Amino acid sequence: MTSPTKTLCPYCGVGCGLEVLPPALPGKATHRDDRGVPIWRVRGDRSHPSSLGKVCVKGATIAEALDKDRLRYPMMRNSLEEPFQRVSWDDALDRIASEFRQILATDGPDAIALYGSGQFQTEDYYIAQKLMKGCLGTNNFDANSRLCMSSAVAGYVKSLGSDGPPCCYADLEETDCAFLIGTNAAECHPIAFNRLRVHHKKNRSVKLIVVDPRKTATADAADLYLAIRPGTDIDLLNGIAHLLLRWGQLDTLFIDECTRGFPEFTDVVRHYPPDLVAQRCGISQEELETAARLWAQSKRVLSLWSMGLNQSSEGTAKVRSLINLHLMTGNIGKPGTGPFSLTGQPNAMGGREAGGLAHLLPGYRLVTNPQHRREVEEYWNLSPGQINPRPGLAAWDMMLGLEAGTVKALWVAATNPAVSMPDLDRTHAALRRSPLTIYQDAYYPTETAEFAHILLPAAQWGEKTGVMTNSERMVTLCPQFRDPPGEARADWEIFAEVGRRLGFEASFEFRSSAEVYREFVYLTKSRICDMAGLSQERLRREGPLQWPCAEGETDDPETRHAKRLYTDFRFPTEDGRAKFGAYHARGLAEPPDPDYPFVLTTGRLYEHWHTQTRTGRIDKIAKKYPDPFIEIHPRDARELTVIDGEWVIVVSKRGRGKFRAKLTRAIAPGTVFVPMHWGFLWADDAEANALTHPESCPESLQPELKACAVQVFSVESERGTGKSEVVGCVT
Ligand code: SF4
Repeated sequence: MTSPTKTLCPYCGVGCGLEVLPPALPGKATHRDDRGVPIWRVRGDRSHPSSLGKVCVKGATIAEALDKDRLRYPMMRNSLEEPFQRVSWDDALDRIASEFRQILATDGPDAIALYGSGQFQTEDYYIAQKLMKGCLGTNNFDANSRLCMSSAVAGYVKSLGSDGPPCCYADLEETDCAFLIGTNAAECHPIAFNRLRVHHKKNRSVKLIVVDPRKTATADAADLYLAIRPGTDIDLLNGIAHLLLRWGQLDTLFIDECTRGFPEFTDVVRHYPPDLVAQRCGISQEELETAARLWAQSKRVLSLWSMGLNQSSEGTAKVRSLINLHLMTGNIGKPGTGPFSLTGQPNAMGGREAGGLAHLLPGYRLVTNPQHRREVEEYWNLSPGQINPRPGLAAWDMMLGLEAGTVKALWVAATNPAVSMPDLDRTHAALRRSPLTIYQDAYYPTETAEFAHILLPAAQWGEKTGVMTNSERMVTLCPQFRDPPGEARADWEIFAEVGRRLGFEASFEFRSSAEVYREFVYLTKSRICDMAGLSQERLRREGPLQWPCAEGETDDPETRHAKRLYTDFRFPTEDGRAKFGAYHARGLAEPPDPDYPFVLTTGRLYEHWHTQTRTGRIDKIAKKYPDPFIEIHPRDARELTVIDGEWVIVVSKRGRGKFRAKLTRAIAPGTVFVPMHWGFLWADDAEANALTHPESCPESLQPELKACAVQVFSVESERGTGKSEVVGCVT
């Protein structure tokens, strides 16, 4: 009997356990995909504590993408006009080392930037940032998590003193009231949502509130659905706080003993009376009061959010305004309570732990903190002052660096910025200016490969061994179960080899990813994300484990899979108190106006993942959505003389797109919705991010990918009225 490999789904941050078996098993017909190609068998792992055997369509079909369109060999070219030529690893790595040496000598380390991914395993992250921050002396290592959840990180740090979701999935089954804002969890985090939904259905007293401008599948399950106007989240959250204050529904003991900043906060929320808030949010006063009453009357309130709050020019303020409600009602540190950010990518959490953003060092340390730098420098045997004290370039700033000519080399790994960055015309122009772009990925072609000079083939999920952490801090080993195709190598091995070729042999003497992980967990010792008690060997032996997990700590079977942070109501701030954040609502960075009268909001579909690099190659998923589409309210469609299924043009101040109209009352009049999954590889003029803008949250540097102002008109009316001239500003 062949035993399955236990691993983790490599798509979203829910982090479901999977079991994988080879295509051919004794006594069974070979498992094949729709085209008859043998593929690995994948099923949910019932022993995985986060998902209990459940799996969604993405996890279930992952094996179908493993062998399609793989990048097998290193390739190079001198200019973007030339075709790629296959080269040896030595040639590719020598060229990278030699160009980096040249740049270091002439422009300094900050002229090199590395843009990584929440798809990385923790070991990939750790080696990448050690190479950049420790050896090269630049903090220009950021990841696509910047576009996904950096506002959650900033919100947690500023309000609670540290990053790290305080909750666990068991809270989904212990809450009395779940408040979901800016998250379509039913489609984007389906298995976590399923746990909540089952609890909600079984217990009639449990309430589900969903806040979203779009009536999603998540909203369909709600007891109370608040269809707020895009960009009015802070109005709503402050409005709820206002009512709680007015009604005296506060946990005064918790506020007095465990928090600070309450008076300043009350000064702000008194400006949010219910009539004003209801009018700004576009909901009734009664709906607002019902939401506030549920916060007041429920013993245990859990809030969940994802990109709807994070991807905003006031993302950190939104996250902190939500956390304020937990602090004023004492809904934190207890079962069934707490502010719980649902992470987008499978190991964005691991990236946060390993220093995978431009302002971070491993173990939730900050590059701006001298003590933190000293601790890491000592551990890495660096001279004092070798780690740069300034945060490096965040994702969008790397594009600006290319545009300005200050970034001379960009290394992109396991992500597709040519589709996922905002303002794609500008992004593409910046990428075209790059003197050297290295693109390291499992797949080819991709949109970003079009802008690369060097392609490095990367091993992906199942082809290398490493560790990932999901949204509830559950750490799972993902063992290798198949050979990488061609000459593909693990990301961490590629980074380490470049480090050695640049003369840092002693820093990269690892013989396995287990050794990398061992070095990394030491840096978490006595930090809030303490994983010093974890090793690849232990995770293989005992299965997934949650952090904190200190060295020598033996697990209490009662709590081993339901650990929470802040259960003693002490927070890792200077005085041990959580901080209220007082913010007024600013609204959208680009509100609609008479020229661009609609708000475009972007989002994701249940079946697709990011820029379709995997899911676009799975036939049954690709067939489900033959065309990119736009959701329009029938009333708007009538005024625009657009009929269902017709192609429409959407224009913003930056670009344009063409989508098939889908008329639905799920979207409010005045707002339209486009999924973000399509790049130019999959359809012409279908990129949602051709329209979006890069205005970012000043605290998290996360761009407002969720909303921008657009014009909408039918292709026919464009032909008839010459409307294309109206948009002559568009390049
Ligand atoms: S919910 Fe997320 S982690 Fe779970 S199977 Fe689906 S995509 Fe994978």
